[in-house]
Amino acid sequence: MTDAKIIQNKNLKSEYKIIDHEYDVVIVGAGGAGLRAALGMSAAGLSTACISKVFPTRSHTVAAQGGISAALGNMGDGDHWKHHVYDTVKGSDWLGDQDAIEYMCREAIPSVIELEHMGVPFSRTENGSIYQRLFGGHTIEKGKAMANRACAAADRTGHAILHTLYQQCLKHKTKFFIEYFAIDLIMDDDGSCRGVTALCLENGVIHRFSAKTVVLATGGYGRAFATCTGAHTCTGDGGGMALRAGIPLQDMEFIQFHPTGIHGAGCLITEGVRGEGGYLLNSEGERFMERYAPNAKDLASRDVVSRAMTIEINEGRGIGPNKDHVHLTITHLDPEVIEKRLPGIKESSRIFAGVDVMKEPIPVTPTVHYNMGGIPTNIHCEVVNPTHKDPNSVVPGLMAIGEAACVSVHGANRLGTNSLLDLVVFGRAASIQAKKTIDPESKHKPLPEDSADYSLSRLDRLRHANGSLSTAEIRGHMQGTMQRYCSVFRTDKLMAEGVKEIKVAAANLKNIRLNDRSLIWNTDLVEALELENLMGQSVVTLTSALNRKESRGAHSHDDYPDRDDTDWLKHSLVGTTDLQKCTITYRPVIMKTLTDEIETVPLAKRVY
Ligand SMILES: Cc1cc2nc3c(=O)[nH]c(=O)nc-3n(C[C@H](O)[C@H](O)[C@H](O)COP(=O)(O)OP(=O)(O)OC[C@H]3O[C@@H](n4cnc5c(N)ncnc54)[C@H](O)[C@@H]3O)c2cc1C
Repeated sequence: MTDAKIIQNKNLKSEYKIIDHEYDVVIVGAGGAGLRAALGMSAAGLSTACISKVFPTRSHTVAAQGGISAALGNMGDGDHWKHHVYDTVKGSDWLGDQDAIEYMCREAIPSVIELEHMGVPFSRTENGSIYQRLFGGHTIEKGKAMANRACAAADRTGHAILHTLYQQCLKHKTKFFIEYFAIDLIMDDDGSCRGVTALCLENGVIHRFSAKTVVLATGGYGRAFATCTGAHTCTGDGGGMALRAGIPLQDMEFIQFHPTGIHGAGCLITEGVRGEGGYLLNSEGERFMERYAPNAKDLASRDVVSRAMTIEINEGRGIGPNKDHVHLTITHLDPEVIEKRLPGIKESSRIFAGVDVMKEPIPVTPTVHYNMGGIPTNIHCEVVNPTHKDPNSVVPGLMAIGEAACVSVHGANRLGTNSLLDLVVFGRAASIQAKKTIDPESKHKPLPEDSADYSLSRLDRLRHANGSLSTAEIRGHMQGTMQRYCSVFRTDKLMAEGVKEIKVAAANLKNIRLNDRSLIWNTDLVEALELENLMGQSVVTLTSALNRKESRGAHSHDDYPDRDDTDWLKHSLVGTTDLQKCTITYRPVIMKTLTDEIETVPLAKRVY
């Protein structure tokens, strides 16, 4: 760390203090993915910094409820990682890369055991092993029976994992920069990443990090929509930084709607509720999922359940004065099971829906929950930029993991409990790769003097912005547009209007007004920076969605109701630098598994 320098130049309205740092790796994000990578890299002897805009244990991972998947077979159902691979490929509607899926499902077993040994307080079975529950889309032998595969710590699994990982990072002496907001990547002219800039929220000093590798672990961008289960911090900052660095984002059209968000509030009611025996009812008191998915019923994959609920609502069988939601009931469950396995749900239903789950059903609607798309990477978590030379060209010095990344293990639709798994498996994989590729003895190439200029000019422009629209007005316009034009059911006409509208919202950024010009805890400024990140992702999401002329997984296109493997068995990559024009390229889906121990899962129709 150097002493603070003062930067003042004619392009800036104010002067800024800047402090320089050098680390082998700088991880942006302290959720499950960032912390798992941080502890592995610190333990490997690399000097490791982890930057987070919120205190690590407040990252959205803390809210994960239902569980983390691993074919441990603790409930005596004969589970095997090969069944997990099949379910994940099928869940992804064959858009997931099968090499990465094999890696994740196989590594799930040692990764979860490792978490247990680190101290994650999992719920227990009678004989003391990790308790596992049913979850949508997870089956034994290609759907013959449902699999108890979700390892759970009551309904607070993310909380348990995140706290344990943070403690492990402290043990391994990771250097944390807490309540620092990462602004932009520092990129070389040759397209490699050299570091990252960040704003210390407490005092407004700019920190410039030189890093042999930067890891983006910034989570999802649910807040691009009007209702989502994600925290207010889920603004996809890493994706925004990647777009500005000229890296297109992959498979952004695939947005997962969780079937059971609390009506109105949007907060999540875990699928674990249905895993424990809860089910959905329409206004006629009918268990309608029996019609849509005769085998898996309420435990069909999320996109299937969300679409079924939307059809029920659209056809007039919704509940409430506006017939705009359905019911999820667990009144038939043993109160002891609810107390022991679903205590958090009982509490959030009481607070956010005013409902006593022991006596009344919970009002629910599909709500934005997860982004399958993100920053494209290979199986070693290295970011690839397909617009360079070939589809697999690596961006030197840059990795991405967790919900911010697209490896891709979730393809067109993620199975519940596979995200927490993705975080720990690929957080660990990133640290293995960093250990192989980074030499802690090697010297840092000095950063050019002007390497913070781009970040400073963005920050300075926003801080002094004096237009006529507030951040909240532009954000509301963006969120309303995404919710209306890029939802559960999509048509060409609707999405074409959406693309036009989102570009209007994006153009309005030029006319933004901030009221707070200070640099001490300037949340006005942070929200504006987050809005720019969200906007980039909204533009590429709608563009990607309009471009894909088929229905697959979460992308349900009314004009093209079938999956089209002839033309669309490929990943889409959409980039934009000015938010008005987009580039579209493609990458092939990897259909071959990693080893010969398991055969490719051949293309088939996805029915539950
Ligand atoms: C309510 C809810 C319940 C869920 N339940 C489950 C479940 O049971 N099982 C499952 O598998 N999945 C579940 N998921 C999904 C899963 O929890 C998420 O996909 C996952 O936690 C994302 O982890 P992450 O590490 O990628 O990012 P996050 O946990 O979102 O962390 C992002 C980190 O990046 C930091 N950051 C972001 N931008 C910046 C910036 N500009 N500067 C500095 N720091 C920054 C943040 O401070 C934070 O530390 C759930 C999701 C939600 C919303």
